[in-house]
Amino acid sequence: MSCDKCWTIKKVIKVPSDLTEAILLVKLKIEDGTLKYLGTGSYGEPFKRIDSGKGWSDFVNNYFSCASCKQIFNLHAETYHGSGGKLAAVEETQGVLGNDVYPA
Ligand SMILES: [Zn+2]
Repeated sequence: MSCDKCWTIKKVIKVPSDLTEAILLVKLKIEDGTLKYLGTGSYGEPFKRIDSGKGWSDFVNNYFSCASCKQIFNLHAETYHGSGGKLAAVEETQGVLGNDVYPA
């Protein structure tokens, strides 16, 4: 489903530095117009609060979509238990998204 603009957007998150890299990658892709921010998923917090790549709380959960092919991407990680997470293409958003925007 992904197109040539977004197929490289994926990352397995195992350690905090992976999460930092994933956040900064997404931020870059939003800034260059590849990704569009959709909102915050369950238990997550607005992406603009964590876009420096640090300062996240127990859960990171944000949704984005490719501006070209509309593929949906989810960045999620459970930071408290250290079980990690991933940045990956998903079929659909889950739950009700927070009505936040990025950039502010
Ligand atoms: Zn795409």
